[in-house]
Amino acid sequence: MSTDFYGIFSRLPQEDLLFWERFQKLLAEHLSPIIDNHWNRGTFPHSFIKPLGHFVQEELGAEALVFPPKNPLKWRLMKLELGRVDPSMASFFAVHMGLTMGSISLFGSPEQKALWLPSMLGFEKIGSWALTEPFSGSDVASGLQTEAIQTDDGWLINGHKKWAGNASMADVIVVWAKEPKSKRMLGFLIEPNMNGVDIEKINDKIAKRAMENVNISLNNVLVKEDHRLPNVNHFRDINVQLKAGRIAVAWEALGIAMGAYEAALAYTKSRHQFGRPIASFQLIQDKLVTMLEEVTCMQALLVGLAETERTVDLSSAQASLAKRACARRSRKVCQLAREVLGGNGILLEHGIARLFADIEAVYSYEGTDEINTLIVGRAITGSSSFL
Ligand SMILES: Cc1cc2nc3c(=O)[nH]c(=O)nc-3n(C[C@H](O)[C@H](O)[C@H](O)COP(=O)(O)OP(=O)(O)OC[C@H]3O[C@@H](n4cnc5c(N)ncnc54)[C@H](O)[C@@H]3O)c2cc1C
Repeated sequence: MSTDFYGIFSRLPQEDLLFWERFQKLLAEHLSPIIDNHWNRGTFPHSFIKPLGHFVQEELGAEALVFPPKNPLKWRLMKLELGRVDPSMASFFAVHMGLTMGSISLFGSPEQKALWLPSMLGFEKIGSWALTEPFSGSDVASGLQTEAIQTDDGWLINGHKKWAGNASMADVIVVWAKEPKSKRMLGFLIEPNMNGVDIEKINDKIAKRAMENVNISLNNVLVKEDHRLPNVNHFRDINVQLKAGRIAVAWEALGIAMGAYEAALAYTKSRHQFGRPIASFQLIQDKLVTMLEEVTCMQALLVGLAETERTVDLSSAQASLAKRACARRSRKVCQLAREVLGGNGILLEHGIARLFADIEAVYSYEGTDEINTLIVGRAITGSSSFL
């Protein structure tokens, strides 16, 4: 199927492996042939939405309406494969399904769920999720500046958001805001065409260029109470989403590393220098083996965690360690893969340059390396070093 030196994936249920194979076929047909061109131009591959939505509807169906999912392994395998083929679409998928649908499923009223989730399942309606702000990233739990004030007519929302994935093409955006009086953190379902919502695409990214990230300005946006997610009041309430997101991103990082290693191995076998394939040189083999070692460590960690997760609810610190371990390793693999391609390593056509750039975003989102380190450090020492 793909790189698996110890046959680690064979420990997973056959049903999930067949699911993975079907998803690989979908990406090979609908995403691989077009993605370099979109990434290069910084455009979103809209033709991919329909087949992806159809796949999710057919394969996951109603089980994808509940968050966290009953069988998270299927979602994780999708993240791995999207990471391997195109990390931009891994983010698009995660923001839509894990974050936006996840928030509505976890915190929404029955009416909100009925209004949004069925059409989002097939990607007919697209979701976005806006927590990060221009002046509040890692410290967003305490530093959130967007405010929601209750008035006789509903809630008045003011503030600015940065990075929100998919918002330029979204039908609904989950916007997180603080109520100044009570200090509660509240979530709102904002529609982009509402008065006072201004969305501006971020155009100058060097990573994840095929997905859309935006800046959002919210100027006196007035929404009725029925647009507020009723079951969320504190930052800690969304921890369940951040935790799932970090494990999912660890799988994405593994996918990216597998993609980079596989492309590097193939290239070194076909590229000849000094009359021999460069794969036959000891120094190149050292890099290939180092890449395989890192990939294999990630596979062992994540398949082990997938088995543990069947019976144990992982802690936030455990999720953070997985994200940190895999993002670090994947970054190293991408760097080595680019190296063994020489100059061709910076060209999109050889399948590594895009992964090499995209891993930089993966390294910094869902908790930067430092923040995940601090979360694990606090858990093992009992002493918080955030300040
Ligand atoms: C491609 C992409 C997509 C994204 N999508 C979304 C999205 O859909 N929705 C959304 O809400 N957000 C999104 N984000 C935002 C993402 O979650 C943030 O980038 C991330 O939380 C880090 O915040 P920051 O970029 O503001 O960095 P900062 O918080 O400014 O950090 C800068 C540096 O300081 C370090 N640092 C901060 N605090 C400490 C400390 N206490 N000790 C030591 N070091 C520290 C950090 O680790 C980092 O190295 C996205 C980001 C990217 C790049």
